[in-house]
Amino acid sequence: MDPIFLVWLISALIFGLVCAGIAPTKNRSGIAFFFAGFVLSLVGLIICITAPMAPPKGMRAHKCPKCNAETNVDEDSQTVECWQCHLVSPNT
Ligand SMILES: [Zn+2]
Repeated sequence: MDPIFLVWLISALIFGLVCAGIAPTKNRSGIAFFFAGFVLSLVGLIICITAPMAPPKGMRAHKCPKCNAETNVDEDSQTVECWQCHLVSPNT
């Protein structure tokens, strides 16, 4: 096996595994982050580190129409009370 290919393969696997390890801290898919690191190497790692947090499973992000504060709310709830200005708005 070509040693250059072997070095590339090992570094791609390391970047993939590091990105897959970052994924759960941001509520993201480990498989998707693994392939981002595997294919893009350092660029993939930077993308993984700078990716915004995703809302936990069963929740979604809601932005307050009055103050633009973001909060995670249940997908099933009908209304949302803003944690900052306490405005109650429909969960749309
Ligand atoms: Zn608000």
